[in-house]
Amino acid sequence: MAWNVVILGGGFGGLYAARKLEKALPRAAARVTLINDVNFMLYTPLLPGAAGGTLEPRHVVVPLREQLKSTHLKLAHVIGADPSRKEVTIRLPAGDTETLGYDQLVVTLGSTSRTLPIPGLEEHAHGFKTLSEAIDLRNRLVHTLEHAETIDDDEARHSLLTYVFVGAGYAGVEGLAELQDFAADVLELYPRCRMHGLRFVLVEARDRLMPEISAGLADFAGSELRRRGIEIRLGTTIERVSADSTELSTGEVVPTRTVAWTAGVKPHPIVAQLGLPLDEGGRIRVDEYCQVEGYDDVWAIGDAAAVPDPARPGRPSPPTCQHAIRQGRTVGANVAAALGGGTRKPFTYKTLGVFVDMGRHQAVAETLGIRWRGFPAWFLARTYHLYMMPGTRRRARLVADWTVGLLFGRDSSELGQLGHPPQLAGAGLAEQSSGGTAPDGSGRAEDAAVR
Ligand SMILES: Cc1cc2nc3c(=O)[nH]c(=O)nc-3n(C[C@H](O)[C@H](O)[C@H](O)COP(=O)(O)OP(=O)(O)OC[C@H]3O[C@@H](n4cnc5c(N)ncnc54)[C@H](O)[C@@H]3O)c2cc1C
Repeated sequence: MAWNVVILGGGFGGLYAARKLEKALPRAAARVTLINDVNFMLYTPLLPGAAGGTLEPRHVVVPLREQLKSTHLKLAHVIGADPSRKEVTIRLPAGDTETLGYDQLVVTLGSTSRTLPIPGLEEHAHGFKTLSEAIDLRNRLVHTLEHAETIDDDEARHSLLTYVFVGAGYAGVEGLAELQDFAADVLELYPRCRMHGLRFVLVEARDRLMPEISAGLADFAGSELRRRGIEIRLGTTIERVSADSTELSTGEVVPTRTVAWTAGVKPHPIVAQLGLPLDEGGRIRVDEYCQVEGYDDVWAIGDAAAVPDPARPGRPSPPTCQHAIRQGRTVGANVAAALGGGTRKPFTYKTLGVFVDMGRHQAVAETLGIRWRGFPAWFLARTYHLYMMPGTRRRARLVADWTVGLLFGRDSSELGQLGHPPQLAGAGLAEQSSGGTAPDGSGRAEDAAVR
């Protein structure tokens, strides 16, 4: 009888674990099932590009079925597990639940935004972690420009055209840089907004940008952001967020309708429902083989697991896709070894480099101890992502987008209704299809995104 291997999560860790298992296990020996809530892997390092309009959103994802040959992909939500019975529970798209048994289980469910109990944050701030959040932020930016262009109230225009980013890790810095670049590009289409100008503020609790890279490079990135007019507030937190302002710990109140929250991640909440041991940060406790403490048939990797970092003894690996990819390969080999009687191997990867792409042909990078900045770093970052993007077809799409962007600039359209046609009360199919106009002709019913 074939072994049953179940992988929870089809992001970086899950995809690379499945691919390794496909190579390491004969097809007849094991049935590998990968459970994910969407049918693609999001290539997060390129998310800022999708938000900034240099990349088509579909081109920053990798359809899992294109990458997997013999793995069974099951679209479902993981809702629980009972490791003592070797079972996981999932909810299928139609709403019914199903229990799956396993011989070996790999957990790689990733992370969500780490929020803090700041008044108004949950209601008014916007995340930058998923594709829909990134596109929502871009759409919001376009909405604020459209709105600000049509009003006479200067004070309201000021708050519409002020954007606050909280958190200056590399994801936050890249997201801010790309969106600011996008806004600067499309601003010429909005004469009143251009007269008024845009304001971008980056708020960071620590006393420096991007602790992931060396101080010298972070300083260079900081000067590049300041050169573009971005205000940076270090050693500052936000105390309160409302619909039209945010209050900083310095007492300053910034009038704004857009607060983007990029202040770190925490394990996905479902991880706490799996009956596995967790560390104080909520990550699953594993050893250097990625095996969960106390279980010889459960493994955990990626952002959801505290895999010991070979580069920093005593500390968990940082939440990066570089680590998740290598942990995926390690765990794939170790699961195959556990089933086939082979020897497990420890996770040994040490970071090869960090890239921070800031758009406008500017980036900072650190590779194998060598520091790069400006255009060479930007070119290196794009080349690296081209190499790391799985599949030739996906790579070709990136090259096409980047080339079109270089030649013709960005697209300023806002397609927030894409895939979600407005549901107008009392309207039939014909009215619904008439472009979002209410039955009485009074305008769009769904135009409440920016108030
Ligand atoms: C904007 C941004 C930029 C980044 N840039 C970089 C970078 O440049 N370099 C770098 O090394 N790292 C980068 N990262 C970090 C990197 O994306 C993560 O470390 C990496 O994705 C972790 O891999 P993972 O497999 O643990 O989780 P993920 O890749 O997040 O995969 C988890 C999967 O589980 C699925 N899932 C979650 N809950 C459920 C559920 N209940 N049921 C079913 N499926 C579920 C998710 O949909 C997802 O597909 C960036 C992150 C962000 C947000």
